[in-house]
Formats: sequence, C-alpha cells, structure tokens
Amino acid sequence: MPMLPVHHMVHQADRPDGGVEWGCPRCGRYTVFYPLRHIVLVLGDPNSVHLAGKGFPPPPVRVPIISEFDEHWLRSHEMAWDL
Ligand SMILES: [Zn+2]
Repeated sequence: MPMLPVHHMVHQADRPDGGVEWGCPRCGRYTVFYPLRHIVLVLGDPNSVHLAGKGFPPPPVRVPIISEFDEHWLRSHEMAWDL
C-alpha cells in the first residue's frame, strides 16, 4: 500500500462572520471552518492527507462538510426565512 503524501494546512485568515480559513500551500486545498460546518472551497489533491497546523480545528466527525455552492444555497434560504 503506497504512502499517501502528507500536506500541512496553513492558517490563512479569520473571517468577520466567525469562519477560519485554512489553505494547503502544496495543492491549493482551501477550506473555511465554522463551529457547525466546514466548507470546502477548493478540493485540492484528494489523495493527500491534510494535517493540521497549530489551532487547526479537530477533524469533522459529525460536522457536515459542504461545498461553497451549498453554502450559497443555505444562505439564500436563510435569507428567505428571515422575510
Ligand atoms: Zn494539499
């Protein structure tokens, strides 16, 4: 069984809405972590293991991982519910 390449995620930015952005400098994987959901903006290399840097949130066990498209969908419906 071949060894999977290991990439280290790097903290990129804190969003004003509470999200924390993490990026992989090697393959371009880019995610935003919120307390209740993790959003993958760029998938990067799916055959790599992405390890956390300092302050990286724990692996999402029961936290849904959704795409940016889904995030927009959710936000549009949240806005609809507010009306
Ligand atoms: Zn990577």
